[in-house]
Amino acid sequence: MSSIPADSPALAPPGGSDLLFGRDVQQRLRIRRWMLSALVYLGVALARWVGVAFGVVKPEAAAVLTLYDLIGVAAFYGCLRTGYSEGLRDPSMTLSQILFALSSVTVSYALIEATRGAALQLLCLILVFGMFRLSPAQILACGLLACGMLGTTVVVMWQVHPEHFDLRREVLNFALAAVLMPTLAFVAQQVSVLRRRQIKQGRELAQVLEQLQDLATHDALTGLINRRHMLDALTEELKRQGRTGHVFCLAMLDIDHFKRINDGWGHQAGDTVLSGFAADATSTLRKSDQLARWGGEEFLLLMPETRLAEAEIGLGRIRERFNAHDWQGTLTPGERVTVSMGVAEFVPGEPLERTLARADEALYCAKTSGRDRIVCAAPESPTAGQG
Ligand code: GH3
Ligand code: MG
Ligand code: MG
Repeated sequence: MSSIPADSPALAPPGGSDLLFGRDVQQRLRIRRWMLSALVYLGVALARWVGVAFGVVKPEAAAVLTLYDLIGVAAFYGCLRTGYSEGLRDPSMTLSQILFALSSVTVSYALIEATRGAALQLLCLILVFGMFRLSPAQILACGLLACGMLGTTVVVMWQVHPEHFDLRREVLNFALAAVLMPTLAFVAQQVSVLRRRQIKQGRELAQVLEQLQDLATHDALTGLINRRHMLDALTEELKRQGRTGHVFCLAMLDIDHFKRINDGWGHQAGDTVLSGFAADATSTLRKSDQLARWGGEEFLLLMPETRLAEAEIGLGRIRERFNAHDWQGTLTPGERVTVSMGVAEFVPGEPLERTLARADEALYCAKTSGRDRIVCAAPESPTAGQG
């Protein structure tokens, strides 16, 4: 068994192809794309050797080109497979692969007369590969570069080996390339622009969805999860309790005499106290605890895998932190705000509503017995205890 979790988003599940492709999902994708181009190189090499068998391609030329392609293709595989390309700006090495392919076609054009007619098709194919990864400017540059390389080769070969070069035919070839390549580069550029726009829109949509989800599950004032989300969390906790048997506690927290704050210092001050309470409570909670704004100035706290005695200690920390909050700038200096809490431990088998009701009754008990305290509910009926 591997120590890497199988459900890790960056790793593919272990399989027979791991040695060839690696396990990183992105790396596998890049190597698959490389493989497609490697197949094209293989097909072109086969065609050349068929040409050798037919006696229309010199074996030395076919050998030089096969070796040239093999070295290039193997080098790209090495860079992708070893992870070297991860450190590059484009880990797919698309531009480098395309430049290499252009050079291969140009060398082939210069050395093998019989397959010159295919050069144009291959150059077009290279640009099509590029349109899915390169920027619009890079594609245009590649199209122009391909034309330039072809033109230069025609001139150089005509100068060096005029006996092997039918200038009229090659100028015709080049003229066709000069029309086709920029046109295809332009089309590829348009596709690239569309692709980029689509990616951007996809990102924006994902962002909006995230914002919507946040709005639907969180309270705008305090940033806490809202009642609806808490109900989902409670359902989940209940399932977990069924599986693991670990009990949880639910606590109702209600700010004392909150109406007095609104009436005395204004609604804005009331809002500040609510946010302050949420921040104080959150800073003392365990990572697994979930605090929700249950309504108005009332909060519900879910404490998974927690017994009543531990819950009481946790609530004590919230109470202490909130009582010590300095409300300078919000309320009259020296003014204290307190909170009452009722907490109940879930009894396996009881409906969740019953646990909630017991926490609520305990809160009521805390209010009626003087506020600013924690009351723990007994499994069936709440009993008061000083916080
Ligand atoms: P007790 O100690 O018994 O809890 O008294 P209380 O005044 O806190 O209780 P009550 O539930 O009667 O009052 C709650 C007040 O909270 C009434 C409501 O106007 C106010 N309130 C509810 N939501 C908000 C809010 O988002 N912002 C502000 N500023 N006030 C709110
Ligand atoms: Mg209150
Ligand atoms: Mg209230």
